[in-house]
Amino acid sequence: MSGRAQLMWDEAVTGYDFGPQHPMDPVRLTLTRSLIRAFGLERDLDVVRAKAVGDSTLRLVHRQDYVDAVRAASAAPGEADGSYGIGTPDDPAFAGMHEVSALIAGQSVGAAEAVWRGDVAHAVNFAGGLHHAMPGGASGFCIYNDAALAIARLLELGAERVAYVDVDVHHGDGVQAAFWEDPRVLTISLHEHPQTLFPQTGWPQETGEAEGGAVNVALPAGTGDAGWLRAFHAVVPELLAEFRPQVLVTQHGADTHFEDPLAHLAVSLDAQRLVQEACHSLAHEYADGRWVALGGGGYAVVEVVPRSWTHLTAIAAGRPIPPTAEVPEEWRAEVYARTRQPGPRRMTDGVVPEWKDWDSGYDPADRLDQAVLATRRAVFPLRGLLP
Ligand SMILES: [Zn+2]
Repeated sequence: MSGRAQLMWDEAVTGYDFGPQHPMDPVRLTLTRSLIRAFGLERDLDVVRAKAVGDSTLRLVHRQDYVDAVRAASAAPGEADGSYGIGTPDDPAFAGMHEVSALIAGQSVGAAEAVWRGDVAHAVNFAGGLHHAMPGGASGFCIYNDAALAIARLLELGAERVAYVDVDVHHGDGVQAAFWEDPRVLTISLHEHPQTLFPQTGWPQETGEAEGGAVNVALPAGTGDAGWLRAFHAVVPELLAEFRPQVLVTQHGADTHFEDPLAHLAVSLDAQRLVQEACHSLAHEYADGRWVALGGGGYAVVEVVPRSWTHLTAIAAGRPIPPTAEVPEEWRAEVYARTRQPGPRRMTDGVVPEWKDWDSGYDPADRLDQAVLATRRAVFPLRGLLP
């Protein structure tokens, strides 16, 4: 297995654009790509462009009638009427929607194939992670579920155990739904509590048809670095140690950040980076190093997303960027030219996150501890673990 990492990128993915009033501004992808270049990460990465997925791959997750509806809306966006979730405020139709969505899915499927074949140990598609798309409908800014498609492709290639860890602030509902009954896939999602955030699912009691195949940690609104890291480490490593995945697929939505306008967690860039590093280590510890890392949500498109996913890519490339590093001046010039905003100066929020290990004790009055324990009680015994 090569030690090299692969970055999936085709400039055309920036055509995934719901319009100027929509929060998912594709400038977040453009600026991430430029920041990766500005740090010279290409020396340690292969940049690869995969083909768009075709209907036979889309059908591994999506219904053909839905794919046909996306194609029709893509050709005539003015006629989308909200059926299949297309033509809604969250998912407006746009020309070329089918093609660019299939292209993003192709990058995630290509990443999965490269890792499965052993071409590279790690592959990153930060344009992917569109985890809300359902088998039969668009949802939450997501048309085709590239994360689920990558996992489905791994299964098609013969994988028997794939773990999916989703740290986006929103519940990874589409991926959970796609593999609800499939014991070969363990889905773990850490997200803001469904009472306060879209998509209002991801309760700890959602454990899947296949004995504990779905795991949900519903974090209280306002959770910051200490709670987020404590929850991650109290749940994810033990489950991966028990499940022994052949491949680890992770989704790194950056919308947990305190500056994110659409959600209510208070996580720093520095904690996001620590979780990225933890995912990298866990892939080596439990999945023979096979790691497919995806992007996801993230609506602080200048301040947060490019730095978060540049850290992710650098970790996958084996050349992590120290948090204290300065952001290259050429990149800040590009940020200003594109957005008339100054852009951040450093690769840190200036904090050094600390957290307490779960073994260090449980506080029954603490809402974060209550949330973690609810998950462990709901699912750990189903997997033969102590709650
Ligand atoms: Zn999200």
